[in-house]
Amino acid sequence: MKNVSKALTIAGSDSGGGAGIQADLKTFQELNVYGMSVLTAVTAQNTLGVQAVYPMTPEAVRRQIDSIAQDMGTDALKTGMLFSAEIIAAVAEKIRQYQWEKVVVDPVMVAKGGETLLEREAVDSLKNDLLPLACLVTPNIPEAEVLTEMSIQTMEDKKAACQKLHRLGPKWVLIKGGHDRGDDQATDILFDGKEFFTFQSKRIPTKNTHGTGCTFSAAITAELAKGAEVPDAVSAAKKFIAAAIENGIKIGKGHGPTNHWA
Ligand code: PLP
Repeated sequence: MKNVSKALTIAGSDSGGGAGIQADLKTFQELNVYGMSVLTAVTAQNTLGVQAVYPMTPEAVRRQIDSIAQDMGTDALKTGMLFSAEIIAAVAEKIRQYQWEKVVVDPVMVAKGGETLLEREAVDSLKNDLLPLACLVTPNIPEAEVLTEMSIQTMEDKKAACQKLHRLGPKWVLIKGGHDRGDDQATDILFDGKEFFTFQSKRIPTKNTHGTGCTFSAAITAELAKGAEVPDAVSAAKKFIAAAIENGIKIGKGHGPTNHWA
Protein backbone atom coordinates (compact mmCIF):
# COMPACT_ATOMS: atom_id res chain seq x y z
CA MET A 1 0.00 0.00 0.00
CA LYS A 2 1.18 3.48 -0.84
CA ASN A 3 1.66 6.17 1.78
CA VAL A 4 1.03 9.54 0.16
CA SER A 5 1.19 13.18 1.20
CA LYS A 6 -2.19 14.93 1.30
CA ALA A 7 -3.21 18.42 0.27
CA LEU A 8 -6.52 20.23 0.60
CA THR A 9 -7.89 23.09 -1.46
CA ILE A 10 -10.67 25.32 -0.09
CA ALA A 11 -11.78 27.20 -3.18
CA GLY A 12 -14.35 27.80 -5.91
CA SER A 13 -15.26 25.50 -8.77
CA ASP A 14 -14.49 26.58 -12.35
CA SER A 15 -16.82 24.58 -14.61
CA GLY A 16 -14.37 25.23 -17.46
CA GLY A 17 -11.71 23.23 -15.63
CA GLY A 18 -8.91 25.81 -15.92
CA ALA A 19 -8.84 27.55 -12.53
CA GLY A 20 -10.13 27.06 -8.99
CA ILE A 21 -10.68 23.63 -7.47
CA GLN A 22 -10.14 21.89 -10.81
CA ALA A 23 -6.72 23.49 -11.40
CA ASP A 24 -5.73 22.73 -7.82
CA LEU A 25 -6.68 19.05 -7.93
CA LYS A 26 -4.98 18.54 -11.30
CA THR A 27 -1.84 20.19 -9.93
CA PHE A 28 -1.86 18.10 -6.75
CA GLN A 29 -2.21 14.95 -8.85
CA GLU A 30 0.62 16.00 -11.16
CA LEU A 31 2.88 16.59 -8.17
CA ASN A 32 2.09 13.19 -6.64
CA VAL A 33 0.02 14.48 -3.74
CA TYR A 34 -3.42 13.15 -2.80
CA GLY A 35 -5.85 16.03 -3.40
CA MET A 36 -9.01 16.88 -1.41
CA SER A 37 -11.40 19.77 -1.94
CA VAL A 38 -13.84 21.94 -0.03
CA LEU A 39 -16.08 23.96 -2.33
CA THR A 40 -16.83 27.56 -1.35
CA ALA A 41 -18.72 28.50 -4.51
CA VAL A 42 -19.72 27.10 -7.85
CA THR A 43 -19.05 29.29 -10.87
CA ALA A 44 -20.58 28.89 -14.30
CA GLN A 45 -17.44 29.64 -16.27
CA ASN A 46 -15.59 29.01 -19.52
CA THR A 47 -12.59 30.49 -21.32
CA LEU A 48 -14.65 33.61 -22.11
CA GLY A 49 -15.22 34.49 -18.46
CA VAL A 50 -17.41 33.90 -15.42
CA GLN A 51 -21.11 33.85 -16.29
CA ALA A 52 -22.52 33.24 -12.79
CA VAL A 53 -21.42 32.65 -9.17
CA TYR A 54 -23.31 30.52 -6.64
CA PRO A 55 -21.72 30.67 -3.17
CA MET A 56 -22.09 27.77 -0.74
CA THR A 57 -23.51 28.44 2.72
CA PRO A 58 -20.90 28.86 5.49
CA GLU A 59 -22.40 25.76 7.13
CA ALA A 60 -21.76 23.68 3.99
CA VAL A 61 -18.15 24.88 4.02
CA ARG A 62 -17.73 23.99 7.72
CA ARG A 63 -19.25 20.53 7.22
CA GLN A 64 -16.94 19.70 4.31
CA ILE A 65 -13.89 20.73 6.34
CA ASP A 66 -15.08 18.65 9.33
CA SER A 67 -15.50 15.57 7.13
CA ILE A 68 -11.92 15.80 5.95
CA ALA A 69 -10.41 16.76 9.31
CA GLN A 70 -12.19 14.00 11.22
CA ASP A 71 -10.98 11.29 8.89
CA MET A 72 -8.02 11.78 6.57
CA GLY A 73 -6.62 15.10 7.82
CA THR A 74 -4.24 17.00 5.58
CA ASP A 75 -0.52 17.78 5.39
CA ALA A 76 -1.06 21.24 3.89
CA LEU A 77 -3.92 23.34 2.57
CA LYS A 78 -4.55 26.32 0.34
CA THR A 79 -7.42 28.74 0.12
CA GLY A 80 -8.52 30.28 -3.17
CA MET A 81 -11.85 31.96 -3.98
CA LEU A 82 -13.64 32.50 -0.65
CA PHE A 83 -16.25 34.99 -1.90
CA SER A 84 -17.71 36.40 1.34
CA ALA A 85 -16.82 37.51 4.87
CA GLU A 86 -19.07 34.74 6.23
CA ILE A 87 -17.20 32.01 4.33
CA ILE A 88 -13.84 33.47 5.42
CA ALA A 89 -15.03 33.39 9.05
CA ALA A 90 -16.06 29.72 8.68
CA VAL A 91 -12.71 28.75 7.14
CA ALA A 92 -10.72 30.68 9.76
CA GLU A 93 -12.70 29.06 12.58
CA LYS A 94 -11.92 25.57 11.24
CA ILE A 95 -8.22 26.28 10.62
CA ARG A 96 -7.98 27.37 14.26
CA GLN A 97 -10.03 24.39 15.51
CA TYR A 98 -7.86 21.82 13.69
CA GLN A 99 -4.65 23.78 14.34
CA TRP A 100 -3.58 23.56 10.72
CA GLU A 101 -0.30 25.38 10.14
CA LYS A 102 0.78 24.78 6.56
CA VAL A 103 -1.84 27.18 5.23
CA VAL A 104 -1.30 28.95 1.91
CA VAL A 105 -3.69 31.85 1.33
CA ASP A 106 -4.10 32.86 -2.31
CA PRO A 107 -6.08 36.10 -1.88
CA VAL A 108 -8.21 35.68 -5.00
CA MET A 109 -10.28 38.83 -5.64
CA VAL A 110 -11.29 39.23 -9.27
CA ALA A 111 -11.16 37.05 -12.38
CA LYS A 112 -9.13 38.26 -15.37
CA GLY A 113 -12.40 39.29 -17.00
CA GLY A 114 -13.19 41.52 -14.00
CA GLU A 115 -15.86 39.39 -12.33
CA THR A 116 -15.93 39.55 -8.51
CA LEU A 117 -14.62 36.45 -6.73
CA LEU A 118 -14.33 38.18 -3.33
CA GLU A 119 -16.89 40.72 -2.19
CA ARG A 120 -15.35 44.12 -1.53
CA GLU A 121 -16.55 44.14 2.09
CA ALA A 122 -14.81 40.79 2.68
CA VAL A 123 -11.30 42.24 2.19
CA ASP A 124 -11.09 43.28 5.86
CA SER A 125 -12.08 39.77 6.99
CA LEU A 126 -9.37 38.31 4.79
CA LYS A 127 -6.85 40.66 6.40
CA ASN A 128 -8.02 40.31 9.99
CA ASP A 129 -9.36 36.73 10.22
CA LEU A 130 -7.34 34.70 7.72
CA LEU A 131 -3.92 36.29 7.20
CA PRO A 132 -2.89 35.83 10.87
CA LEU A 133 -3.40 32.07 10.35
CA ALA A 134 -1.41 31.87 7.11
CA CYS A 135 1.98 30.26 6.68
CA LEU A 136 2.21 32.02 3.30
CA VAL A 137 0.11 34.59 1.43
CA THR A 138 0.56 34.82 -2.35
CA PRO A 139 -0.92 38.05 -3.77
CA ASN A 140 -0.28 39.29 -7.28
CA ILE A 141 0.43 43.02 -7.55
CA PRO A 142 -3.21 44.22 -7.87
CA GLU A 143 -4.18 42.05 -4.86
CA ALA A 144 -1.21 43.32 -2.84
CA GLU A 145 -2.29 46.88 -3.69
CA VAL A 146 -5.80 46.25 -2.35
CA LEU A 147 -4.51 44.53 0.80
CA THR A 148 -1.92 47.23 1.59
CA GLU A 149 -3.72 50.27 0.12
CA MET A 150 -0.40 51.13 -1.56
CA SER A 151 0.49 51.77 -5.19
CA ILE A 152 3.19 49.28 -6.21
CA GLN A 153 5.34 50.53 -9.10
CA THR A 154 8.94 49.76 -8.21
CA MET A 155 10.95 47.02 -6.52
CA GLU A 156 11.20 49.24 -3.42
CA ASP A 157 7.38 49.52 -3.35
CA LYS A 158 7.14 45.75 -3.62
CA LYS A 159 9.47 45.27 -0.65
CA ALA A 160 7.57 47.86 1.41
CA ALA A 161 4.29 46.07 0.56
CA CYS A 162 5.84 42.74 1.69
CA GLN A 163 6.71 44.34 5.04
CA LYS A 164 3.22 45.82 5.44
CA LEU A 165 1.58 42.48 4.58
CA HIS A 166 3.88 40.63 6.96
CA ARG A 167 2.67 42.84 9.81
CA LEU A 168 -0.84 41.43 9.24
CA GLY A 169 0.38 38.08 10.57
CA PRO A 170 1.39 35.58 7.86
CA LYS A 171 4.77 33.89 8.44
CA TRP A 172 5.79 34.41 4.81
CA VAL A 173 4.67 36.83 2.08
CA LEU A 174 5.13 36.20 -1.65
CA ILE A 175 4.29 39.07 -3.99
CA LYS A 176 4.17 37.69 -7.51
CA GLY A 177 5.60 39.59 -10.43
CA GLY A 178 3.28 38.37 -13.18
CA HIS A 179 1.71 41.84 -13.35
CA ASP A 180 5.06 43.74 -13.23
CA ARG A 181 4.61 46.88 -15.25
CA GLY A 182 6.71 47.44 -18.39
CA ASP A 183 9.09 44.59 -17.73
CA ASP A 184 10.03 41.50 -19.73
CA GLN A 185 10.91 39.79 -16.46
CA ALA A 186 8.51 38.66 -13.76
CA THR A 187 10.13 39.02 -10.33
CA ASP A 188 8.49 37.35 -7.35
CA ILE A 189 9.59 38.51 -3.91
CA LEU A 190 9.39 36.27 -0.86
CA PHE A 191 9.75 37.74 2.65
CA ASP A 192 9.80 36.10 6.09
CA GLY A 193 9.95 39.29 8.16
CA LYS A 194 13.76 39.43 7.98
CA GLU A 195 15.10 38.42 4.59
CA PHE A 196 13.98 38.98 1.00
CA PHE A 197 14.34 36.16 -1.54
CA THR A 198 13.83 36.98 -5.23
CA PHE A 199 12.73 34.60 -7.97
CA GLN A 200 13.04 35.80 -11.52
CA SER A 201 11.63 34.40 -14.72
CA LYS A 202 11.26 35.61 -18.27
CA ARG A 203 7.81 36.82 -19.26
CA ILE A 204 6.20 34.31 -21.63
CA PRO A 205 3.96 35.98 -24.24
CA THR A 206 0.69 34.00 -24.29
CA LYS A 207 -3.02 34.56 -23.75
CA ASN A 208 -3.53 31.09 -22.31
CA THR A 209 -2.89 32.02 -18.68
CA HIS A 210 -6.26 31.29 -17.11
CA GLY A 211 -5.77 29.69 -13.70
CA THR A 212 -2.10 30.65 -13.35
CA GLY A 213 -2.45 31.97 -9.79
CA CYS A 214 -4.46 28.94 -8.63
CA THR A 215 -2.02 26.50 -10.20
CA PHE A 216 0.99 28.26 -8.68
CA SER A 217 -0.38 28.32 -5.11
CA ALA A 218 -1.55 24.71 -5.49
CA ALA A 219 1.98 23.68 -6.56
CA ILE A 220 3.46 25.46 -3.52
CA THR A 221 0.92 23.68 -1.28
CA ALA A 222 1.79 20.31 -2.80
CA GLU A 223 5.51 20.88 -2.12
CA LEU A 224 4.78 21.95 1.47
CA ALA A 225 2.63 18.81 1.92
CA LYS A 226 5.63 16.73 0.85
CA GLY A 227 7.76 18.44 3.51
CA ALA A 228 9.60 21.20 1.62
CA GLU A 229 10.53 24.44 3.40
CA VAL A 230 8.78 27.54 2.03
CA PRO A 231 11.63 28.93 -0.18
CA ASP A 232 12.20 25.48 -1.73
CA ALA A 233 8.46 24.98 -2.25
CA VAL A 234 8.21 28.36 -4.02
CA SER A 235 11.26 27.62 -6.15
CA ALA A 236 9.90 24.22 -7.26
CA ALA A 237 6.42 25.67 -7.88
CA LYS A 238 7.93 28.47 -9.96
CA LYS A 239 9.49 25.90 -12.32
CA PHE A 240 6.16 24.06 -12.52
CA ILE A 241 4.17 27.21 -13.34
CA ALA A 242 6.72 28.41 -15.93
CA ALA A 243 6.33 25.11 -17.81
CA ALA A 244 2.53 25.26 -17.35
CA ILE A 245 2.40 28.73 -18.95
CA GLU A 246 4.88 27.81 -21.69
CA ASN A 247 2.63 24.86 -22.62
CA GLY A 248 -0.70 26.68 -22.13
CA ILE A 249 -3.68 25.00 -23.72
CA LYS A 250 -5.43 26.46 -26.75
CA ILE A 251 -9.00 25.53 -26.01
CA GLY A 252 -12.30 27.42 -26.19
CA LYS A 253 -12.86 30.87 -27.72
CA GLY A 254 -11.17 32.96 -25.00
CA HIS A 255 -8.25 32.66 -22.62
CA GLY A 256 -7.18 29.04 -22.50
CA PRO A 257 -5.85 27.51 -19.29
CA THR A 258 -2.29 26.82 -18.21
CA ASN A 259 -1.25 23.23 -18.69
CA HIS A 260 -1.45 21.30 -15.43
CA TRP A 261 0.44 18.32 -16.70
CA ALA A 262 3.36 20.37 -18.03
N1 PLP B 1 -12.54 31.02 -11.07
C1 PLP B 1 -12.16 30.55 -9.90
C2 PLP B 1 -13.05 29.61 -9.18
C3 PLP B 1 -10.94 30.98 -9.38
O1 PLP B 1 -10.53 30.54 -8.18
C4 PLP B 1 -10.12 31.89 -10.10
C5 PLP B 1 -8.83 32.37 -9.65
O2 PLP B 1 -8.37 32.19 -8.58
C6 PLP B 1 -10.56 32.35 -11.32
C7 PLP B 1 -11.78 31.88 -11.76
C8 PLP B 1 -9.83 33.35 -12.10
O3 PLP B 1 -8.93 32.83 -12.92
P1 PLP B 1 -8.19 33.79 -13.93
O4 PLP B 1 -8.20 35.17 -13.36
O5 PLP B 1 -6.81 33.19 -13.98
O6 PLP B 1 -8.88 33.70 -15.23
